[in-house]
Amino acid sequence: MNGSMPTYLGMPAFPAAAKAAVADSQLRRNLTHATGTIRAKRAGAVAELDDWERLRQAAKAIKDHTLANLDAYLLRLEENVIKGGGQVHWAQDAAQANAIVAGLVRAAPADRVVKVKSMVTQEIGLNDALESGGIVATETDLAELIVQLGHDLPSHILVPAIHKNRSEIREIFRREMPDAPAGLTDDPAELAAAARRHLRHEFLHASVGISGANFAIADTGSLVVVESEGNGRMCVTLPRTLISVVGVEKVLPSWRDLEVFLALLPRSSTAERMNPYTSIWSGVTPGDGPEQFHLVLVDNGRTASLADQTGRQALRCIRCSACLNVCPVYERAGGHAYGSPYPGPIGAIISPQLRGLSSPVDSSLPFASTLCGACYEVCPVAINIPEALVHLRAKVKHNFSERTVFHLSGQVLESPRRLAAAQRLASLSRRFVGRSGRIRRLPPPLRGWTETRDAPAPPAESFRAWWQRTRESGTRERGTR
Ligand code: SF4
Repeated sequence: MNGSMPTYLGMPAFPAAAKAAVADSQLRRNLTHATGTIRAKRAGAVAELDDWERLRQAAKAIKDHTLANLDAYLLRLEENVIKGGGQVHWAQDAAQANAIVAGLVRAAPADRVVKVKSMVTQEIGLNDALESGGIVATETDLAELIVQLGHDLPSHILVPAIHKNRSEIREIFRREMPDAPAGLTDDPAELAAAARRHLRHEFLHASVGISGANFAIADTGSLVVVESEGNGRMCVTLPRTLISVVGVEKVLPSWRDLEVFLALLPRSSTAERMNPYTSIWSGVTPGDGPEQFHLVLVDNGRTASLADQTGRQALRCIRCSACLNVCPVYERAGGHAYGSPYPGPIGAIISPQLRGLSSPVDSSLPFASTLCGACYEVCPVAINIPEALVHLRAKVKHNFSERTVFHLSGQVLESPRRLAAAQRLASLSRRFVGRSGRIRRLPPPLRGWTETRDAPAPPAESFRAWWQRTRESGTRERGTR
């Protein structure tokens, strides 16, 4: 069974959404600058390690082994969380997970929560579900706070407000943050200080914290959150009740496995040798941190995608975002066009697997790629994203015109005579060639191709015709002499 994940409200299929994004020159400037900077820094951080490829293969092997034995490791995790004084809840889908969390918050009792950035809570639409139950959730990650105050949606896994520049952020703070200083400028240090002051009050008054987890260690029942700002540390230590909402694929067998991922994740994501804050907790400890700990394990389509031998590699993902930063499609279209909290190359393979391929947006996502392979090269857990994309494309039911085009192409390519005729026909399109030597507009049904790009002019003579004219006729002439 596929899971439930709300498509971003009103979001059309990828081609239409991307078209609007590509036309936004400010967005493109913001994205090009941000992804270019992170890309260069990551390459430097990775180049420092001689054994990067070995680490990468080790991570892949650990994840594959864990996924192949997921049931056993999840039960071991549950057993050890309970031993440590925590409680474990199992959620099959988003609705169940949201209901469990809302029930726990009400039982705390509380009507406000602080949250550390968590992809799975975005996936299940937790904030909206809490709000409809009268519970206010405050995001405490700086970029998430910007997105929340701006009534916006995240557009990057690691930097959810990557589409905003600092003057846009200043305007959001001035408009939406009641305690923002009167003369707030767009200096990054001033903006961070304003957010820190605003959040401090929330941290000190919240009795419930909600987190995700980067990893869950089965052997000890420990949860691990890595982050750069310290907000995660506050969320998982200050409130009386801590609720961690975690996808089932986050489990790792043991501490030794964690070592590999703590080497790979910071370099791949923030280009740091080590992330500034690593918070690890195992159950509850009297007099130290939360008095109650709940772990909500979320399936939401994950076990269904485990059944797919090619597609399941997406469950290895550690959400580092390296694939987004190298993707030429993401850099131009931005994250919102993917219609899901998971943008970029990983989003193009994970959302259709978690949600199924039936909606226009999900069936369009596997085509949101040039298949250049840059995402596979940088992925620290060696997810072959192009392979998964092609695999998903084959599953999409093509519409009639696509089926017809592919059928006709097949007919032409399997017959040398038909191919030669098609090439002669193609050379007729030279009449559409402009002064630039390129075709800027083709008639229907090929118009779509030239709407956003031009096309090279086909040669006046195909290679096959040239070969026949110059070589084969020469050979014949020599043979008759
Ligand atoms: S697919 Fe790989 S590169 Fe992309 S976010 Fe996941 S782990 Fe990182």
